[in-house]
Amino acid sequence: MNTLVLKIIFSVGLIVSSVIRSPHQQRYKQNKITDDRKTNIEKLLLLFVFLGMFLIPVIYIFSPLFSFADYSLPIWTNIGGIFAFIIAMWLFWKSHDDLGKNWSPTLEVRESHTLITNGIYQNIRHPMYTSIFLWCLAQALLLPNYIAGFAGIISFTFLYLLRVGNEEKMMLEQFGEVYSEYMESTGRLLPKLF
Ligand code: SAH
Repeated sequence: MNTLVLKIIFSVGLIVSSVIRSPHQQRYKQNKITDDRKTNIEKLLLLFVFLGMFLIPVIYIFSPLFSFADYSLPIWTNIGGIFAFIIAMWLFWKSHDDLGKNWSPTLEVRESHTLITNGIYQNIRHPMYTSIFLWCLAQALLLPNYIAGFAGIISFTFLYLLRVGNEEKMMLEQFGEVYSEYMESTGRLLPKLF
């Protein structure tokens, strides 16, 4: 598929995801945080994710800086990328909508934090991370460049691996038995099958 078309599709995704997140970001500023578990390594990895999922793709889209690492992809991978992109956007919106005021860009608990176990959270504990992985997959399938295509999935995988265990530990300490029962009936990134 034409590289310009792919770049436009990817840019639309960047804009749509910012529009989805923006009201949550505004509301988040009013939260009173009662338990902040953000570490320096977490902050560093958040910076890597910003580079990998936003800055590097934007440089690739608007400049020839990474053109030495270009390659070509068959059209079916681009079509797969568009599907991954659409599902990622829906799941990103749905998880923000269900999480409501409890959303946070990092690891923390707010005053009057409630445990969400309905909507998409009824079957999956981390649907927002599923949506980000799908988005990173779309990035790799839409941007035919070794640097810009893979920077997202590499940076987000590191953040996910550091975060997910700590997040569940924090939720267990906050919600105790209720969260451990919730863990039994749900999967981390995909619904539990058995
Ligand atoms: N890991 C979740 C949420 C990401 S936002 C997902 O991928 O969908 C991160 C914040 O959400 C965490 O700091 C935690 O405070 C909060 N959180 C995570 N799971 C939650 C749940 N089931 N109910 C309420 N808040 C939750």
